[in-house]
Amino acid sequence: MSDPRYRFATRAIHAGQHPDAESGAIMTPIYQTSTYVQDAVGSPRGGHEYARVTNPTRTALEQNVAALEGGTHGMAFASGLAAIEALVKRLSAGDHVVYEENVYGGTHRMFQLVLARLGLEFTPVDTRDPDDVRRALRPNTKLIHLETPTNPMMRVTDLRAVAAIGRERGIPVVVDNTFASPYNQQPLALGATAVVHSSTKYLNGHSDVIGGIVVTSDDAMADELRFMQKATGGVPGPMDCWLVLRGTKTLQVRMEAHNRNGQRIAEFLLEHPRVQAVHYPGLPSHPQHELARRQMRGFTGMISVEVGSEAAARSLLQGTRLFALAESLGGVESLISYPILMTHASVPAEMRERLGITDRLVRLSVGIEDPEDLMEDLDQALKEA
Ligand SMILES: *Cc1c(COP(=O)(O)O)cnc(C)c1O
Repeated sequence: MSDPRYRFATRAIHAGQHPDAESGAIMTPIYQTSTYVQDAVGSPRGGHEYARVTNPTRTALEQNVAALEGGTHGMAFASGLAAIEALVKRLSAGDHVVYEENVYGGTHRMFQLVLARLGLEFTPVDTRDPDDVRRALRPNTKLIHLETPTNPMMRVTDLRAVAAIGRERGIPVVVDNTFASPYNQQPLALGATAVVHSSTKYLNGHSDVIGGIVVTSDDAMADELRFMQKATGGVPGPMDCWLVLRGTKTLQVRMEAHNRNGQRIAEFLLEHPRVQAVHYPGLPSHPQHELARRQMRGFTGMISVEVGSEAAARSLLQGTRLFALAESLGGVESLISYPILMTHASVPAEMRERLGITDRLVRLSVGIEDPEDLMEDLDQALKEA
């Protein structure tokens, strides 16, 4: 069922899914077990030995998301950060990583405050210019880590161009596709080596799980990542895998609704007298709108807005009734957040300034509620501001 002949919505529902052999249950069961019986030493009855290594519910999720990204291998982890960490732990002390400077704040924190202490080197780059990526490469560069669109500035990286640089230099290119989701963007088809997700966000879509996953068609990289699951253990439990699997079934219908609501609300905010700027790749005013249109199918529900002052930002954050003040994104319900003090508090002030993460910037994760209600909510909060 990961048959590439099937289209996205069909793969979302069927890839990796088989009725349970014993009961006929149409839905993949939650295999809540730590181990599996062996008929003789070295002969596990169902092919599984220990649940850190494999679990059938996890395998179903891994095959499902692999099919959605157009890859052959999926490896699920306990969180998005655990998935990114597994990719970087394939490297050794002395190796160098080039990464997009506006990555998720937690990715930057892990690279600079944890993995750099262990002897890996990390260089943040504005990957909007592929030549800047090329200039940052060194003889010991072993990984290029991208994220597009970025959080919260919605910068877009030309995936085809950077993937070509990676291929030319023999350096794997990893794309954090959390913001776009596989429905809107297919980095493997554009030449990336691997895709990583925080499945906490759009893949699961219901704000009730922390999870991560990597997809690749590179057999050697997949082997290394399966070894990481087994050898370092950052794997998700079966219940969480089952919840994400339930989420991916509706990924297409949810993303179509997020894209529709995101576009409408971005256009509404652009016209609003209390709003100074709107960052959304679906707006013709976005400096990389044409590139975004070339490599994305839709532009998601993620929007950042700049208002007139810190006080106006704080009163907008306090004033919404439907948009809940919270970290995270990608759920069916709308959220509002303040990057400078929430998701990006761990990014150094000097870097935040350069990126444009100011005390006037507010981030929205537009859910799939009725867009009229969402616009009325923002309008009343902006009038208070
Ligand atoms: C949330 C997020 C992460 C981290 O994922 P967790 O599941 O919270 O560990 C990584 N990248 C992006 C783009 C994110 O939004």
